[in-house]
Order: sequence, then structure tokens, then C-alpha cells
Amino acid sequence: MLNLVFDEVHRLHSDPSGRHPEHPRRVDDAFNVLKASEAWSGIRVHGTFEGEFEKLKLIHSKHYISLIEEECGRGFHYIDSDTYVTGKTFQVASRFISTSYYASIKSLESGEPWLIMPRPPGHHAGRDGWAMGAPTLGFCIFNNSAAAAHAMLDSGLRVLILDFDAHHGNGTQDIFWREPKVLHVDLHQEGIYPGTGSVWDVGGIGAEGSKINIPLPAFTGDPEYLWLLDNVVKPLIEVFKPEGVVVSAGFDSHVGDPLTMLEATEITYSTIASMIMGLMHSGMVKSFVTVLEGGYGEGLNMGLKAYVESIIGIKVLKPEVKLKPPRGRVVEELNRVLRDYWGLSIL
Ligand SMILES: [Zn+2]
Repeated sequence: MLNLVFDEVHRLHSDPSGRHPEHPRRVDDAFNVLKASEAWSGIRVHGTFEGEFEKLKLIHSKHYISLIEEECGRGFHYIDSDTYVTGKTFQVASRFISTSYYASIKSLESGEPWLIMPRPPGHHAGRDGWAMGAPTLGFCIFNNSAAAAHAMLDSGLRVLILDFDAHHGNGTQDIFWREPKVLHVDLHQEGIYPGTGSVWDVGGIGAEGSKINIPLPAFTGDPEYLWLLDNVVKPLIEVFKPEGVVVSAGFDSHVGDPLTMLEATEITYSTIASMIMGLMHSGMVKSFVTVLEGGYGEGLNMGLKAYVESIIGIKVLKPEVKLKPPRGRVVEELNRVLRDYWGLSIL
């Protein structure tokens, strides 16, 4: 059974002009697609939990939390060139933080996977908000994936964060930069917003090698994603042995997304979900939480459905493509990082 968090409260975070790509319909439509699918019988739906200040403080600085609270007091407006708040954003975003935290605990207790559908998304929000020199918050306010990962850390687990959103999860990386018990593997399109996520950014002092950034050239699709899963992600899992997994699931890496130029399809998402469910069934992974991030086109509906069907096990897509490494320098560079910090070779 998949535990899914959907709460209409997300609609209170909305640009009234309707022109912002991160609008309430994204998540409403994706939820309705799941509702109409065969997967529905394998899903248990939950609302959000009350927002707790204590949970927010684990992830963000007091200064940033107060800033967001103050900004929301002024009603709807943009707090930077691409991120808005409304009078209710603080309340909505903090509910999703508490919920992401408790989802990890519940997953650990029951051994069932959880999936959160928050708005606003979170992976660009760092400890002080704007992260790693990024010019904006990239539609994000509080970092839901970080809250889920923090709960696993607090439960004594070693955590893998796998972020397949097309944009680099700079906020998440900033929050766990010096935490060696969080292995963060981030697949993203190189050269696009927020401009961070170089292969050479491997983590801060004491955590070197725990941040694995994989910047991908435009038009990278299933053959390369599946190659990276087999040759990078699985070997890292074998060495690191995560006990908790958080997936930052951004379906803007799907082919045809209007904001990016990656070309993953349902096959990649289905394979990732079945790989992690396999780790759960083997007993290695004891808590598994997926947090929705971006996705601005049909790919969100199609990708999420395939991902969920694979988690539930009713339909796992079989890759029929020939695997190949991504183009450019990334494999060679990645090989140096994996060799130096993990003793792995991918060449
Ligand atoms: Zn994104």
C-alpha cells in the first residue's frame, strides 16, 4: 500500500493571475490522474499534519523562517523574480514540512512507502532560503525533502536522497552540505537554473564525497538515465548501504516538459521506483518517502502515474532500450569523484 499525502490546502498558495508555471492545477491534475487509474486501489490518502515551528527550525534558519512569515503578512506578492507568497503560504508550506517529517517516521514504523504532493515545491530552498549563490528561490519556500531526510537522520538512519528533478536541488544540498550520513545523488540538466550542481561539488569538510552531482547535457533520455542507475547509483547504494531513501521527484526531467530539455520517460521513473522498492523488500531500506518537486507539463501526470504504479507493483515497465553513458565529459569527471571518495570505477 502506498500512503499518499494530498491536501486541498495547497490551493491557498497561488498566483491570482494564473500565469505562473507553478500553479495549483499541476498537483490537482496529477492527483486526479492517479484517482482515475488502476493504481488507486493500492493508495491510501492522507491530509497534511499541523505545521510545527520546531520542525521548520531543523531545516531553516530562524531568520529565514521569520522573513517568510513577515512576507506572507503582506499578502500576495513576489519575494524575488520568480517566487511568490500569499497570505497563507507560510501556513501551507509549514504543514507540508511537518507532514514530510512525520511521513518518514510513519514509513519506518509500518514499512510502507509514502508519497507527498506538496505545493509550493521545496528543493531549491536552503537553510537561509536562497542557496549556493542562486539568484532566486525557484518557486520554493520550505524544503520538504530535507524535512523527510532529517526525520530519518533523527531516527539514526543513513539516508540516500535521490533527486531526479531537471533542476539541481541546491537547497537540499546546502542543508546537508556537511552531513556525511546523507548521500545526495542529483541528476539534473547542466547549464540551466539554478546554475549549481557541478561534479566537483562533493560536500563540505567531513562530508566529502557524500554529494554526487550529475549534470546532464540537453536531450539526455532513458538510455543514459538507466546507464547511470546501473553504473553509478546502484554501486553507490551497495557501498553506502542507505537505511532511508528520500526521492525528490521532479517530473520536469520528462521529455516535452516546457521548462527543460531532458528526455526521460515513464521507463526511467518506473525503474527508479522498482529499484527502491527492491531495497525495501530486501530489508536494507526501512523508510522510503517520495516528495514531489517540479513538473510543468503532461510529463508530471504520466511520469508520476508510472512511478506510483511501479511502487505499488501493479505495473513495472521493462526497459527495452540499449543503455549508453551520457555524452560529454560527465562520465570521466564522475569517475574521478567516485574513485577518489568511494573506490569505484565506471570507466
Ligand atoms: Zn525542476
